[in-house]
Amino acid sequence: GVILSLSIVGPLMKATTFINEAKSMEFSVEAANELLNLPVLPDSGKEVSIAHHDIVLEHVTFSYDGSKQNDVLRGVSLKMSEGSFTALVGPSGGGKSTVARLIARFWDVTGGSIAIGGYNIKELSIRQLSELISFVTQDNFLFNCSLKENIRLGNPNATDEEVYAAAKAACCDEFIARLEKGYDTPAGDAGRRLSGGEKQRIAIARAILKNAPIVILDEATAFTDPQNEDKIQKSIMALSKGKTLLVIAHRLSTIQNANQIAVLKKGQIVDCGKQQELLNRCPLYADMWKAHVGAKNWSVGEIPQVDTA
Ligand code: ADP
Ligand code: MG
Repeated sequence: GVILSLSIVGPLMKATTFINEAKSMEFSVEAANELLNLPVLPDSGKEVSIAHHDIVLEHVTFSYDGSKQNDVLRGVSLKMSEGSFTALVGPSGGGKSTVARLIARFWDVTGGSIAIGGYNIKELSIRQLSELISFVTQDNFLFNCSLKENIRLGNPNATDEEVYAAAKAACCDEFIARLEKGYDTPAGDAGRRLSGGEKQRIAIARAILKNAPIVILDEATAFTDPQNEDKIQKSIMALSKGKTLLVIAHRLSTIQNANQIAVLKKGQIVDCGKQQELLNRCPLYADMWKAHVGAKNWSVGEIPQVDTA
């Protein structure tokens, strides 16, 4: 079961980021329908037949309090084609997580529009939208049930075998096997013993099981050990096969294979292109890359993995 009586806390949480991230995690969970269907936004949409999963942002402006002078996004336009991999990078506070939240419609744009498959997302029912998107956030909280059930939240109809397969694909099986009760470990106990990266991989396993055509991943900042980074990397690849993928990346190593990298600064996209293009022409990206490389103690000669295709 879900921990909180959500109908009570719902209105209180509405104004916070938490509700938004919480909603995202529960998107496909029947048991959490109360939360999903909170009347946060008008749901006048209907089920439509979507022929593709391009995501198109056009001149999107947004402020959390509705006032122009507090605009967090200022005219953001970005096209993410079906099946492609888009990375969103830029200085902290620039609006990256906000873009992700707007696509999942935890908030509505103040100006401009967001479309999926050619439909303004406001025309889609919240339920349909929620089924289209897997959202893995930087706050990987677990619900108050076993790890197995936490993963199954991605698809309540999944068999145990399917849960284990998703866990394996997300590189969770090893650390879960190390726990005394394995998959039956209550999330509370596990939460204290798992690292941030391990919790994120549980969230990724959940998303793999959900198998939505659009995957939005807001990466956590804190995972610095390279082994964990490799596993996260691997699990992201398992999650994103064939999907329209948006990764908000804090570690640039994650995104070298992106079809496009959009650089967001102070609510505006200052450049968008492939890694090599940005290294050549976008000083902000080049600086971020240098900092990334410096932090990794790589020498510049050692970065031939950069995908210039
Ligand atoms: P990023 O993910 O690039 O670090 P965010 O999208 O989280 O940036 O934040 C962009 C701006 O919006 C920041 O100034 C941040 O303080 C503000 N902000 C983020 N979430 C909220 C919120 N729930 N209410 C009000 N302001 C917010
Ligand atoms: Mg963020």
